[in-house]
Amino acid sequence: MSTTTQSCMINGKEQVEVVSQQVDYQGEGTLVRITRGGICGSDLHYYQHGKVGNFAVKMPMILGHEVIGYVVKSDNPALKENQKVAVNPSKPCGHCKYCEAQEENQCTGMRFFGSAMYFPHVDGGFTQYKVVDSSQCIPFDNQADEKVMVFAEPLAVCIHAANQGGDLQGKKVFISGVGPIGCLIAAAAKAKGAAEVVCADISERSLAMAVAMGATDTIHAANGDFTPYLAEKGYFDVSFEASGHPSSLTRCLEVTRAKGTLVQVGMGGDVPGFPIMMLIAKEIKLVGSFRFTTEFNTAVEWLGNGTVNPLPLFSGEYDYQNIDAALVFAGDKQKAAKVQLTF
Ligand SMILES: [Zn+2]
Ligand SMILES: [Zn+2]
Repeated sequence: MSTTTQSCMINGKEQVEVVSQQVDYQGEGTLVRITRGGICGSDLHYYQHGKVGNFAVKMPMILGHEVIGYVVKSDNPALKENQKVAVNPSKPCGHCKYCEAQEENQCTGMRFFGSAMYFPHVDGGFTQYKVVDSSQCIPFDNQADEKVMVFAEPLAVCIHAANQGGDLQGKKVFISGVGPIGCLIAAAAKAKGAAEVVCADISERSLAMAVAMGATDTIHAANGDFTPYLAEKGYFDVSFEASGHPSSLTRCLEVTRAKGTLVQVGMGGDVPGFPIMMLIAKEIKLVGSFRFTTEFNTAVEWLGNGTVNPLPLFSGEYDYQNIDAALVFAGDKQKAAKVQLTF
């Protein structure tokens, strides 16, 4: 069968348009009617700069990787018509050494929604109809709040980051930078049993959001007194750097106890003058965190059963036809955290 779909395409810096396309479903995989999507930092980067890191938009590409919808048709009998699903935007190759080791987020042939990493680019999910692998469809209760379920992808990123920090049960946790990702890490750390979750940011608004998402205390990154957290070589067992600013990484190294763990989540550039002596002398374990693997399923479960309530981060929704306005609003960090599109 063939269906018309309206897609939000990016064609370079500040160039988005809604385009009518045809979607052909030949009986393989699952045809999903996308109903809602969340705008992510990478979508904003493509819009504001025409690129993310080194990956520039060189041809029209459908934006978006945080989407949910319902099944129209599927080759998997377990995915019944009208079943609501969260769509996992990762499509690993399934046969490289990382896939074989269940480390799919490191797959050398990853096809990730809405990414200009490859040419031709991989289209995203900001469209009404999309054919995906049936394994990318994670069902959730049809009664669940769709606004909540759209957070599956960013929450998966944050559960993965929390897992990179090891066992958090009873631990003292520090998060530097509480945009939506830092806030969801706070929620994931709480869900994993952290005893204290202290969040730092330069925005009072972000700090208030972090409290709503489960932070036990906050401190202003510029004006706050960090002295109590510096004693005895550092107070926190595990730190998460989620702002991407070089000074924030140094701060994390300072407040993390000797032999503690620092998880780098924020995507910044290289860090000039990285305080490598502090890392060595305190024997801090520095770990990166990139996307997710099975945490996507965990995220769908935690949102479905209320383990994490992401709604303090919800800032508003737009019809997909107003994609321009939605991207401009989402880019205004004074007003918006997470903005959603409806299709
Ligand atoms: Zn995202
Ligand atoms: Zn692979």
